[in-house]
Amino acid sequence: MPDPTQKGEQVFRGIPVSGGVARGHVLILGKPSDEIPRYEVSESQVENEVNRLEKALVQTRHELIEVQHKVEAAMGAKDASIFDAHLLVLEDQTLIEEVTRLLRTQRINVEQAFFEIAEKYATALGAIEDDYLRERAVDMRDVTQRILDNLLGRKEVMLRDLKDPCIIVCHDLTPSTTAQLDKKLVLGFATDVGGRTSHTAIMARSLEIPAIVGLKEVSTSLESGDDALLDGYNGLLIINPTDRTLFEYGQLVRKKLSTQERLRELVNLPAITLDGQKIVLSANIGTAEEVEAVASSGAEGVGLFRTEFLFLNRGEMPNESEQFEAYRRVAAALKPHPVVIRTLDLGGDKLMPDQEIPAEMNPFLGWRAIRYCLQELSVFRTQLRAILRASVEGNIKIMYPMISSLGELNEAHEFLSLCREELRVEGIPFDPNLEVGMMIEVPSAALVADALGKRVRFFSIGSNDLIQYCLAVDRSNERIAHLYQPTHPAVLRLIQLTVQAGDRNQIWTGVCGEMASDLTLVPLLLGLGVTELSVAPPFVAAVKFLIRNITMTEARELAEFALNCDCPREIQAKSEALARKITPTLFAHKDLR
Ligand code: PEP
Ligand code: MG
Repeated sequence: MPDPTQKGEQVFRGIPVSGGVARGHVLILGKPSDEIPRYEVSESQVENEVNRLEKALVQTRHELIEVQHKVEAAMGAKDASIFDAHLLVLEDQTLIEEVTRLLRTQRINVEQAFFEIAEKYATALGAIEDDYLRERAVDMRDVTQRILDNLLGRKEVMLRDLKDPCIIVCHDLTPSTTAQLDKKLVLGFATDVGGRTSHTAIMARSLEIPAIVGLKEVSTSLESGDDALLDGYNGLLIINPTDRTLFEYGQLVRKKLSTQERLRELVNLPAITLDGQKIVLSANIGTAEEVEAVASSGAEGVGLFRTEFLFLNRGEMPNESEQFEAYRRVAAALKPHPVVIRTLDLGGDKLMPDQEIPAEMNPFLGWRAIRYCLQELSVFRTQLRAILRASVEGNIKIMYPMISSLGELNEAHEFLSLCREELRVEGIPFDPNLEVGMMIEVPSAALVADALGKRVRFFSIGSNDLIQYCLAVDRSNERIAHLYQPTHPAVLRLIQLTVQAGDRNQIWTGVCGEMASDLTLVPLLLGLGVTELSVAPPFVAAVKFLIRNITMTEARELAEFALNCDCPREIQAKSEALARKITPTLFAHKDLR
């Protein structure tokens, strides 16, 4: 018999970006919708509305005075005086009288009446050719917002307010905020926007926080306190899950745990195919703290250290000694295994709050990564010196991100030589044989990989960006996520060209983008000739298991098929079918719903 007290189950579908199942109460983060309700009130309620207005004005006044005091203490009286203009708005009798008149004549709710009149004033002030009055229009809108927030009881919920474990639901989370999430309090998260290879999604996977993105309007459809189950494997956010749903997921979680137990047995075994092809399986990290996770995952070193996470969530850039310490720590702990340190890849969706990167129309095509470093040479110099200095402590390699031409690569090399020379003159030791490689993540680089390969010691394919640039599909935009196809023939050809150019130059080619940890795509990458894969530590064991169960003959046959097929879906299906055939236990979660 269904339980009559149980509310109906409701399922929201989004893009699964970080596996796992979370159960808990929803917490809506951020400011609730800006919408202002409009409704009629009866004659007897009009006085009540007038009282609400008076109360909201008093409350807003208290808040503004408090903010003014804080600003005065921190920045001085001059800066604090800007709030005088805000306080004057609250005392503007003409404005208040007009609002009460509208309330009484039209009998509409006070929020709507206040908004209409205040907006009329602000528009009129903003239209006057006078800078001072235009500023007053801004003040007017600012205060109006505060008054409306108080009338509607709207309160912004911030991450720092979290006290109890919950499932976060919000419009968006930045990569830097995600990097700071506390796993004990954030059981999982779901956002309206985002894509599978956005850095927010990548961080969630590294942190092993179940997550779904691209749920479109979920943050305005749910309420804090809703009972939810988040299925990060299939991208389902289930509200008021029924007993049957809970039972099914309970079984899945148990199955997953027992698979993980078995995978742990592989930690010390090599990643080698059934027919003897050795694959270097390394890990992606964003902070030095992750080094323990790398060591216990069974990875052979680090294939991608995303150094920009040392720069995010802080006011100033980390100095040379702080960076040196981070790089040294990782290199020393993992030696003799290699640690590939990628130079700074700020920009795109990874921005420092105070960084002087102006807002751009196309941030992913803009002042990002190596382009930024080659112009901000003091930032680049600090980092290169720190890496070089750390190179005596282990097996460090340097990797440049987003190289798009030979000229850019040469420029980076020349600057690195200068930094080496500087250290030599200062008598500071560094590894003179340190290898330098580059990412292949811009199609132009893949197309001229023959020339680039003569100037580097390895290629690492950044498939996340390579796909977005090859197909002109923003990797973080949920509306076009269906067009973001790793198995698009154009992407596969770029990978093939890169591997071939690497082989001709006798250098290795790896993949450190998310394709490398997608079990359905690993067979294809092996078949295309990739010999190194770098994945977030939680994925190492599963990828190793798959490698140990496949033959290169199977992988090459698949690649042969893919390179002769025009249809991304068919290629995806065939690659997935092979992965499922050889490692069915790794796919239990996909068959649930
Ligand atoms: C990539 O683009 O695939 C990559 C590994 O770099 P990031 O995800 O940091 O842009
Ligand atoms: Mg990239």
